[in-house]
Amino acid sequence: SESRPLNFIEQIIKKDLDEGVHSNVVTRFPPEPNGYLHIGHAKSICLNFGLAQTFGGQCNLRFDDTNPEKEEMEYVESIKRDVEWLGFEWAGDVRYASSYFDQFYEWALHLIREGKAYVCHLSPEETKEYRGWATKPGKDSPYRNRSVEENLAEFEKMRAGEYDEGACVLRAKIDMASPNMNMRDPMLYRIRKQAHHQTGDKWCIYPTYDFAHGQEDAIEGISHSICTLEFADHRPLYEWFIENLPVPSKPRQYEFARLELNYTVTSKRKLKQLVDENHVDGWDDPRMPTISGMRRRGYSPASLRNFCEMIGVTKSGSTIDVGQLEYCVRDDLNNNAPRAMCVINPLKVTIENVKPETKKTMVQPVHPNKEELGERELPFSREIYIDRADFSEDTTLSRKKFKRLVLGEYVRLRGSYVIKADAVITDENGEPTEIVATLVPKTVGENPPEGIKPRGVIHWVDANDCVDCEVRLYDRLFNDEAPDAGDKNFLDALNPESLQIISGCKAEKGLVNARAEQSYQFEREGYFCLDSKYSSDDKLVFNRTIGLKDNWKK
Ligand code: ATP
Ligand code: MG
Ligand code: MG
Repeated sequence: SESRPLNFIEQIIKKDLDEGVHSNVVTRFPPEPNGYLHIGHAKSICLNFGLAQTFGGQCNLRFDDTNPEKEEMEYVESIKRDVEWLGFEWAGDVRYASSYFDQFYEWALHLIREGKAYVCHLSPEETKEYRGWATKPGKDSPYRNRSVEENLAEFEKMRAGEYDEGACVLRAKIDMASPNMNMRDPMLYRIRKQAHHQTGDKWCIYPTYDFAHGQEDAIEGISHSICTLEFADHRPLYEWFIENLPVPSKPRQYEFARLELNYTVTSKRKLKQLVDENHVDGWDDPRMPTISGMRRRGYSPASLRNFCEMIGVTKSGSTIDVGQLEYCVRDDLNNNAPRAMCVINPLKVTIENVKPETKKTMVQPVHPNKEELGERELPFSREIYIDRADFSEDTTLSRKKFKRLVLGEYVRLRGSYVIKADAVITDENGEPTEIVATLVPKTVGENPPEGIKPRGVIHWVDANDCVDCEVRLYDRLFNDEAPDAGDKNFLDALNPESLQIISGCKAEKGLVNARAEQSYQFEREGYFCLDSKYSSDDKLVFNRTIGLKDNWKK
């Protein structure tokens, strides 16, 4: 971030500050509390809070809660948690669009008194028919030219609950022939006889997004109101309200391209469907592209911020390769995650030249490049576990292809001795159940004598002093690069093998102290973190955040 060129929004802001159009930058992140935040919201959060940081301004967290039926306090709480976790601090208290309802109502009365709004009783079907379409001008509603008095009386009846839902709406009187459909007498208020999570039963009429959003910005003194491209067509309406109402400030709207990721669905509605239909285990399922899911999966806040910085902010949309996100996650974990050893599919090795009562301790750095993180102790005794995949009886395997333990040959145990596989004990199916080995003395931290050539280095744990754990391996939630493109049903693209649970894994002893969501690199296996939902004192569950190999080219 140090020296990259300014993005187009930063250029606009810099110019506004240079020219004295604004003296202070105020942005906002305005989620509707109707679901959990996803990776697309992370882009908007990083952008809005980032602009405030860059220009020494402030960013508000405002709940755009004008739609009572889909909103819940659970979502409000999760959104606050996610923004904080990403590392941002909003200015002052959290704000709610609903706390401005009295003001919006006053402004609706203002438009009525000015002859710029009217109560319309057309049915939704009639309204649609009257609106026309892009190439066909609309027709005026028969209610369009009511008197101010009649409109005031009708609007009061709406507010007082005298009409049923859908019976009528308040509309702005703008231009039924406008080429911009949003200007054809848009709806300002609708009747919803539903309790609201903030205002309770106080209102049975609620403002529309269009009638609320710009005015919320004006009330809060937002200088730059940044939204996604699909609102570009709403901008003339946004400006119409700002021009036609006695608002305390004049914010301006700017649009940027929303984040789209391949193999990923980023629509709250679809994510909610995945949750409601139990295709996943809640909003924070580690396979979900939600911020809470990614947190539970082991993604760090820094990696998400780095990703948003890397993809940048543009005016035209493009789909980002999910590999780019994974690159950022891996890069951050590689630099910061403590190392540990965990044997996922254990195979016992008995080292015959170690006495049964012998207990040794090996020492390894917590992180290879971070001395300050100190060292960790690894118990070592006559019996250890290695991974089944790290042993083969096939002595014809080339040294280059199989840098692990082969019957009759040598391998180094990470941070410990060089051992030799002398014999293998198998079950009735010929599957190895135990390896009988010997260690080469004086090989801890030292090269073995001439003639002894270990094939490679493998991870291991002490069979007599380790911890049992469960490991959860995740794959993409969707097999299709564009799961919801065109008229595809995104559920058809669900990957049936996106979760694999492996129990009976053996981890190094020190992992009993792992904290929820704390990340580790399990050497040779990938990055893992302790699962915050299913781990308990009696049972450790680790989520694989991501594998070690990178397949995205910078
Ligand atoms: P969805 O379409 O997933 O339901 P939304 O846009 O309706 O999301 P809001 O809660 O209204 O969700 O969004 C809050 C803010 O986040 C808005 O300013 C919106 O523009 C932005 N945002 C939402 N999705 C994305 C995305 N994919 N990329 C960038 N910004 C986004
Ligand atoms: Mg929305
Ligand atoms: Mg939306």
